[in-house]
Amino acid sequence: MKSNNAMQSRSIPVVFSPRYDMHLGGIEKRHPFDTRKYGRVFQMLCERSILTGSDHHAPRPVSEAELLVVHTRTYLQSLESAENIAMVAEVGELRSVPVSLLKSHLLEPMLHATGGTLLGVELALQHGWAVNLGAGYHHAKADKGSGFCYFADINLAIHKFLRLRPQSRLMVLDLDAHQGNGVEATLAGDPRVAVVDLFNEGTFPCDLEARRFIQYPFPLKSGCGTDEYLKLLRRELPRILDEERPSFLIYNAGTDILDGDPLGLLAISKEGILERDLLVFVEAQRRGIPILMVLSGGYTQLSAGIIADSLSTIIPMMKARMRA
Ligand SMILES: [Zn+2]
Repeated sequence: MKSNNAMQSRSIPVVFSPRYDMHLGGIEKRHPFDTRKYGRVFQMLCERSILTGSDHHAPRPVSEAELLVVHTRTYLQSLESAENIAMVAEVGELRSVPVSLLKSHLLEPMLHATGGTLLGVELALQHGWAVNLGAGYHHAKADKGSGFCYFADINLAIHKFLRLRPQSRLMVLDLDAHQGNGVEATLAGDPRVAVVDLFNEGTFPCDLEARRFIQYPFPLKSGCGTDEYLKLLRRELPRILDEERPSFLIYNAGTDILDGDPLGLLAISKEGILERDLLVFVEAQRRGIPILMVLSGGYTQLSAGIIADSLSTIIPMMKARMRA
């Protein structure tokens, strides 16, 4: 028994692989996406002894068969072309990079991170919580990628959860600055999933068609500040969780709501983001709802540090509750 407990204490439901980071000789930096954010978050958590470097879970990349559960074969085949890959990334220069390099250095990391979200479903069901230090590609649709999102990891996770727990309901809480249009369009109002989305309605993707499928839409204006944002979340989140009583919560925790983020265009302070993340975990935990967090957007160099700060509070808190 003792060795089992010792095994358990070494296993933390945090998913990460060094393969998440993208390296394309610097071209990837033409997009404000911090393509090495994942490794930096992991390193900071290890430096702070929140993780030891070996107590996390490394995922395998998602397979084509798994992707086909959500994506069309035609779409996946379209990713054999550098032009199409560049279009999803919105970085024209990528068109001139050999497709083999794009696949190995850009798509492969995302296949690993998507596999991480799927592994996160199992771990969250086992432990009551899990964090994937990547993914949250909420703009990817079944037949189309956009906004640097190629693979619909959240929809794949929903599908996996419903396969493991049929007859259950779950919730997607999307607190990235952008509307989670890929998740929403792909779900198309599936009654087993409630979508809560707080998003800047004045910026990308402005997808009115997909917006019809958000059960709890909270459109925000550009420049929305910390007090207004947290007041809304503190008022609405407990109410919605009580109303919906989901059996699982997928939390898309984009840090692009940060004041100064060039793509999010909201004005939430760093402290506000830490409070937001804590609030979500506390409210889920209070109701015994397993929660899976994925990182999603965050387009400043501060993003990795904010995620690490947030997880430096959340991981010890959730670990303590696992022991209790
Ligand atoms: Zn975003």
